[in-house]
Amino acid sequence: MMQQYHEAKARHPDAVLFFRNGDFYELFEDDAYLGHKVLGLTLTRRDKEIPMAGVPVNHLERYLGQLLKAGYRVAVCEQMEEADPKKKLIPRAVTQVVTPGTITDEGLLDPRTPNHLAAVVGGGTPQAPLYGLAWVELTTGTFAALDLPPCRLADELGRIAAAEILFPESLAEAVLSLPAPVLPLSRTARPDWQFAPTTALAALKEHFRVATCAGFGFADDQPCLRAAGALLLYLRDTLKANLRQLGRLQPYRPEERLLLDEVTRRSLELTRTLRDNQRHGSLLAAIDRTLTPMGARYLHDQLLAPLTDAPAIEDRLDAVEEWVQDSPGRRQLREALARCADLQRLTSRIATLRATPRDLAAIARTLRLLPDIQPLLENRRSDLLQRCRRQLDLCADLRQRLESALVEEPPLSAKEGGLIRPGFSPELDELRQLSREGKNWIARYQAQEIARTGISSLKVGYNQVFGYYIEITHANASRVPPDYIRKGTLKNAERYITPALKEYEEKVLTAEEKARALEAQLFSALREEAAQYIPRLQQTAETLALLDFLAALAELAVERNYVRPAIVAEPILDIRDGRHPVLEQTLPPGTFVPNDVRCDAEHGTFWLITGPNMSGKSTFIRQVALLTLLAHIGSFLPARSARIGLTDRIFTRVGASDELSRGYSTFMVEMTEAANILNNATPASLVILDEIGRGTSTYDGISLAWAITEHLHDAIGCRTLFATHYHELAQLAHTLPRLRNYNVLVRETDRDVIFLHRIAPGHADKSYGIHVARLAGVPEPVLQRAAEVLRTLESRHELPAPQRRPAASIDPPEGPPRRKHKLKPLAPTVPLLFPEADPSAERESPPPSA
Ligand code: ADP
Repeated sequence: MMQQYHEAKARHPDAVLFFRNGDFYELFEDDAYLGHKVLGLTLTRRDKEIPMAGVPVNHLERYLGQLLKAGYRVAVCEQMEEADPKKKLIPRAVTQVVTPGTITDEGLLDPRTPNHLAAVVGGGTPQAPLYGLAWVELTTGTFAALDLPPCRLADELGRIAAAEILFPESLAEAVLSLPAPVLPLSRTARPDWQFAPTTALAALKEHFRVATCAGFGFADDQPCLRAAGALLLYLRDTLKANLRQLGRLQPYRPEERLLLDEVTRRSLELTRTLRDNQRHGSLLAAIDRTLTPMGARYLHDQLLAPLTDAPAIEDRLDAVEEWVQDSPGRRQLREALARCADLQRLTSRIATLRATPRDLAAIARTLRLLPDIQPLLENRRSDLLQRCRRQLDLCADLRQRLESALVEEPPLSAKEGGLIRPGFSPELDELRQLSREGKNWIARYQAQEIARTGISSLKVGYNQVFGYYIEITHANASRVPPDYIRKGTLKNAERYITPALKEYEEKVLTAEEKARALEAQLFSALREEAAQYIPRLQQTAETLALLDFLAALAELAVERNYVRPAIVAEPILDIRDGRHPVLEQTLPPGTFVPNDVRCDAEHGTFWLITGPNMSGKSTFIRQVALLTLLAHIGSFLPARSARIGLTDRIFTRVGASDELSRGYSTFMVEMTEAANILNNATPASLVILDEIGRGTSTYDGISLAWAITEHLHDAIGCRTLFATHYHELAQLAHTLPRLRNYNVLVRETDRDVIFLHRIAPGHADKSYGIHVARLAGVPEPVLQRAAEVLRTLESRHELPAPQRRPAASIDPPEGPPRRKHKLKPLAPTVPLLFPEADPSAERESPPPSA
């Protein structure tokens, strides 16, 4: 047996081998240690020396799931014959290799999150290197690819968040040096030749039965096609299934998407929280009102890749608005959606031949709901809803077929029998009739034989060895008729058979077995028939996903009182009474303080926001980023009104805690992120900065923040919100025409300080750090001493001289204040709100020390 084991292991050296032995899957040697460490299995020894750990057969899924989650691949080696005590060695073979990117078992997947397998390959020229990237979602049939420059690779990988990545062996070093957060735990090096243009492209062409990939929108020499082809080869190797659910390869067009880099995606907590990497607490969790797993996955994908095309966004907004206005229609639609099964994943299970009778019944049940949904899409104004109506394929013929074939609640496995509906197959009906009649026949036969022999204790029985037999006690042996054939002797009885009984057995008893075999056969044929519908089912599933997504956004808008944003071409933001979509839901109702933002020529496109810690600066600037992003997925916004200028990218530089574990200093992380923004932001971008230049000396920090501000303002000119506690930066308002100072209002009473969380023009002049320290529980003597030190420092402190303007900067207005001056407010803070306040007044007032 160990020889068998080693042979199997040699064929799958990179997988944890689950070796079936009776009621257990055994792990041996290194795998046993791994099972002990990762799964907490008890470590034992086989024959006193071979390390071994075992998993009960019916717990396979749970342990598989844990290993896959930890990034391991698993090969399952099964016994290919029933155990037989007479035979010494049962033949065994690896029947499946499961890897994190190729799982299709429902039990191992989160229904609301896509499970991607990605492949990457190098390409392009030395002058213009490129990466080819392809990814597949096996359970839904999504298959997409794009070429991208090296600097974008990490961002796209982060967006795809694959469970597993493939790469050619020669690219291992480059791939493995990618930042840990974007790299899947499961990294699979494949031979280079599988990525070779000829091999990989041939695999693609063969799979899609095309002569060129031009029809999908690719040029045949694109590197990403090599990645896509290598993916197919890998899937074929590991799954050994046909991949009919992969019906097309889609070009992914980043230019149609609002770009979010990895840092931004994570720091805005779009799908997971920063602190504990949970869905709960993320933007996604706060806004998700979808009712189907398909809709949930669609929302997830859209949030990570919002649109940039105004007409496409307006299309969605129109549809959402229509559902907002039609509450009865929305309710009916959502009632139907709530009962829909995961048609996308079920369809893929047909393709991988894993669909069970229950799966096909679930498909039939979902198709039965479509005639309720279709009329709700009639006479819609929205183009998108009209399109949904056209694309919702009822697949009535398939539904009719499935309904006539399957019972209402079929068993999980086709082998169990009892899944095909009476009337579907005359042959099956007859077999069933026979086996049903069996019981009656036996009762009749027994009565008849008792009458004939006069033996009242005569019994007809059944066992595996004899089949049917007649049992007569020894006491009655003399009365046994001559046509009984003796078969065996027990302690007090004799067993007989008769030709009539055997004939019955031949004809009737096997009927049950035959019926079961026939049912399994009918089921395979049915699944095969259903497979012909894969493209149509996929289209319907995608339509349901979109409908669920749109109706869920409408539901959210109604529930939380969101408004439709106007999408405009100019790079502006005008949000009145905006609310933070996540915090608003966690704070007690009515306690969240709404705020305006107006990034435009009049109110400044660079907002420098000063204010004490804990006053709400980060909340505000994140809120602006989240609302801008939500508008780009076609969502209504938590605000009284909103006009959102089209945005090509959102950048954030906020908090860096999770990067620290990777061994970089806070400062290094900040500067790397700042560099990314300075190098890549465009005039259509939105930049959110939360403190810059911490983690170095104050002067260093201020100087860098100062220069970064100037560069963003002059050279890039993007919409920027910069929250800082460097009050000194407020002076920049004198020299940078589009920069305006804002601050968070604070109400000071005799003994207390209240943060009002309200943003107003003007800049802060006090930090209230000691106040926050008091809130945090710092002892009173320390606070008093700190207040003393602060007074001394403030009386001595001088500002650094402002930096010279860079030569390339755009027309500096009045020269910056060149004299050193004391740290004092530039102008009284103006606690006024829009639209009454005129923030330019603040800029025009002369610096107090000038
Ligand atoms: P800062 O960035 O100025 O240090 P935060 O944005 O982190 O402050 O906010 C601190 C806390 O203040 C938040 O955790 C939140 O509870 C509260 N807060 C912030 N903004 C608001 C608001 N608009 N309405 C109500 N509470 C708020």
